[in-house]
This record gives sequence, structure tokens and C-alpha cells, in this order.
Amino acid sequence: MIEEVCKNIFRITVPLPNNALSAVNTYLVKGDERSVLVDTGFDLPISSSVLRRALELLQVPPDRLDIFITHQHPDHAGAAYSIVAPGALAYSHCAPDGSSLDFIRFSFEEQERLVRKLLSAAEPTWKSHRVESEEKIFERHIISWPIPESGFKRVDEGDVISAGGYDFCCILTPGHCDTHTCLYDEKSGIFISGDHVLKDITPHIVDVNLEMKNLSRYLKSLKKITDLPVSSVMPAHGSIFTGLRERCEEIALHHEQRIKDIMTLIDCGNNTLGNIASNCIWNTRNVPWNELSVEMRIFAYGETYAHLSYMLNERLIEIVETDGQEIFYRA
Ligand SMILES: [Zn+2]
Ligand SMILES: [Zn+2]
Repeated sequence: MIEEVCKNIFRITVPLPNNALSAVNTYLVKGDERSVLVDTGFDLPISSSVLRRALELLQVPPDRLDIFITHQHPDHAGAAYSIVAPGALAYSHCAPDGSSLDFIRFSFEEQERLVRKLLSAAEPTWKSHRVESEEKIFERHIISWPIPESGFKRVDEGDVISAGGYDFCCILTPGHCDTHTCLYDEKSGIFISGDHVLKDITPHIVDVNLEMKNLSRYLKSLKKITDLPVSSVMPAHGSIFTGLRERCEEIALHHEQRIKDIMTLIDCGNNTLGNIASNCIWNTRNVPWNELSVEMRIFAYGETYAHLSYMLNERLIEIVETDGQEIFYRA
């Protein structure tokens, strides 16, 4: 679906097959000379065919299109290499030492190793009882990014990307992903939020080890943008909305409540990651915990771990390791 959401800005909805999110909003900022496409969808043929067809209808030739990746999650960066033409640019932030694209590829491999560790920590029997279909989850998490290094343009805080009469300023917003970057055009008040602020769901904050501290970083990044004078928030999933401040406050409150709920669970004797996560309240559309897919369980463990890591950092809880298992107590 293509929709002009603002002068020269088109939302192109790209389907995400077999995924709870069902679709990603990509935004085409159409300029006279060059246009910029923000995000791309999974590394699947359907993403490139939807995007190619849309670009054709909008009369944007591939060699006049640059792309901007809000962050390196597969539903955003996946199809980048199949869209970017020789000589075009793929803008994205990457870690300070990650000037090379190998960093991005490596981070996915490293992530898989850590996700497997997290799953085994939460479900000590998973390793011995895992079923083949559950193993398939990891296939989708690896993406290739064979964009030649010459086509990659690293962006940093304050860099400006101009197209279609807009001057989008890059605002680094780590938390949901290390490299997450939002785009803000001061003149129009348009804010392209990626996965940092969503209207219909709470952005997913995950730690796969207790040193990551992604929730602290996320809440800091949320504060950073709360007071921006914004006329329209264009997220990567779900509806476009107004009222950035209110939404930021709602999201912060959600995390506060989750911390309280986890503390209550710990006080009631749920002291391991597996016990805490399986007793938290999740929006699973009435699917009971023991029927959740491995993908959903990993999300729940990662999200719970992010809150536990935050609580440890704030000295609300303590951790004791017994027989190789992490046990959490009120501090
Ligand atoms: Zn994401
Ligand atoms: Zn996403």
C-alpha cells in the first residue's frame, strides 16, 4: 500500500510474512534530484518486489534513490542490499569502531550466540529437548549485507539528510538497538521514529546479557526526544500519530509498572529468569505461555532480562549464582 502522508513523503507498507508485526512502514521522501527511502523490510523477495513496484509507480528511478536505515534489525535493514543501486548510498549509524560493514554482519552472528545462551539460561532443558522447527528461528535472524563499502555512509548525531524540501536531522536513540537513529525535520515538525516510539505497541527492549543495560539507555533516549516540538510521528510499525510527549510518558510508565510487577514476582518466590518471564503478563492474544512459539518466548526472556539488568543497576535487586543458575532477590 502506498499513501502520501505529507507533501513529498509516501508511506509504503512492506509485509513481514510469518511475523507478529505483520508489516513495516517504509517512508519515501521524494525529491527532484534524489529521493531517500527510510527502511526496507526483511531480506525476502516480497520486500524488494513491493518496493520496486512502488518506486516505479512513484516514478523514482533506482539510480536516484538513497536509503536510510533507522537500525540494523532484519525488518528494517534486511532488503537494503537488494534495493540500493550501484553508486547510491545506504545511510546508517553503526558502532564507533564499526566503520566496516563486517561489524553489522558480525553483530548478527554474535547476537545468535547470545540468544542461544539466553534461551538455555531460561529453559535449562531446551538444549536437550529442542525441536527442529524451533531451531529454524535462527535462520531468519541472520541477514546478509553485501553492500559495497563505498555505498555505505555512516551517519552521526546532528547529520542532516535533505530531500523533498525537508532537512532531516539524525538523532541517535540507542536502546531498542545500539545503532537506532530517528529523523527530525524541525521546520515541519515531522519525526520519523523507527522503532523508538510506536503508537500501537511498546517498543521491544531486550538484553541478552546483564551488562547491556538497554533499558537504561532506552529510557534516556526516550527523555531526549520527549520535548521535541513534533507535528506528526511516523513510526516503522502501526499508525502515524500526534502527541509524542504523551506517548513517551505512557511508554515510560509501562516500564515502571513492569519493574513493580517483577519485584512482586521475586517477592513471591519466582527467582529465576524462566520463572519471572513465564509469570509476567504479556500481550499474547490469549495464547497461554506453554503454547507460545520459541520466538515469542525469546522476546519475553530478553525483555525480562532487560528489566532485571535495570533493577540490578538501580540496586533494587541482587543476584546470586547457584549451580550455574542466576537467582534474583530483593536487595
Ligand atoms: Zn527494531
Ligand atoms: Zn521493527
